Amino acid sequence: MMLLDKVLDPPSYGWTDRDGAFSKPTTKQLLREFLKRINIFQSKKNWLPLFSWARVLLLIPLLFLFIFNYFSVALLVAAFIYSMIIMGTHGTIWHHRYCTHKAYRFKNRFWRVLTQNLTISMIPEEIYAISHHVHHAKSDKPGDPYNANGGFLYCFLADVNHQPIAKDLSAEEYKQTVQLMAHTGVKANCYRKYQKWGSVVHPMRAISACLVNWLVWYGIFYLIGGHALACALFGAAAFWAIGVRTFNYEGHGKGKDKRKKGYDLNEKDMSINQLWPGFVAGEWHNNHHLYPSSARSGFLKHQVDLAWYYIKFLHFIGGVITYHDSKASFMKRYNGA
Ligand SMILES: [Zn+2]
Ligand SMILES: [Zn+2]
Repeated sequence: MMLLDKVLDPPSYGWTDRDGAFSKPTTKQLLREFLKRINIFQSKKNWLPLFSWARVLLLIPLLFLFIFNYFSVALLVAAFIYSMIIMGTHGTIWHHRYCTHKAYRFKNRFWRVLTQNLTISMIPEEIYAISHHVHHAKSDKPGDPYNANGGFLYCFLADVNHQPIAKDLSAEEYKQTVQLMAHTGVKANCYRKYQKWGSVVHPMRAISACLVNWLVWYGIFYLIGGHALACALFGAAAFWAIGVRTFNYEGHGKGKDKRKKGYDLNEKDMSINQLWPGFVAGEWHNNHHLYPSSARSGFLKHQVDLAWYYIKFLHFIGGVITYHDSKASFMKRYNGA
């Protein structure tokens, strides 16, 4: 069995039914699974998905403080730009193109850590990166952790229900899993600690790294614009973290074939190029499925790709030493399409 067939912890409703077809759970099953899998009293191995949602819940009060206490139009604009453009583009730069696809290489640790912490930290690297390999291997098929055929909630709750790693990996399988993230700088548990915590990252490391990130960013925002700006932008980060959980459903056509002939050139799955995620985060998702390891996904003139501009800029100043760029290959294909 290949690693990607078993690296994720299967939900209790399974990836497939008895006939091997996609198993679509009911809303009740999805919610029950969600509650079971964030219950750390049942198993402390559930800590990581709980931590992932706790980050959002902890910041919701700041969102309310912004709305009811500090609200101004200028801050609303700042919050909008921060959540939609800055957080979104950072997700593409760091979690997507670097942590999963290794689309470029940093010169050294400094640039990697700087890029990792360029925004308020919301999504654990492990939850995103490992499961995203599975998404590419099984797009829109059983086993895809955010299979759009499962419906909105199937994708929205995926970071708890489908994305955490399996708890019963052998020592060799665990070693291979760790390898998938070795370049990210996230320090991995030894096999014994993995058996205890059920994750690659140790909870103390993950929590302290997040805390340092939050304190530094709160301090910076406070110095610039007091508690008002800090609440606006931390609230914006929570808002983004909820919104981004809807992307995988929409990016694959909400379970329908919404691909446009001659525009969405990759026909192997249901991914589509959408204007909004493209403009704000460089997520031209059909292009990306065509060239997953490219550091650029916006290939056509109107396909703005802010994540690519950052990577290119870092390359210009020496922080990035190599990158893949599939534009030439795409254009050849596109013109022949
Ligand atoms: Zn996809
Ligand atoms: Zn990808």
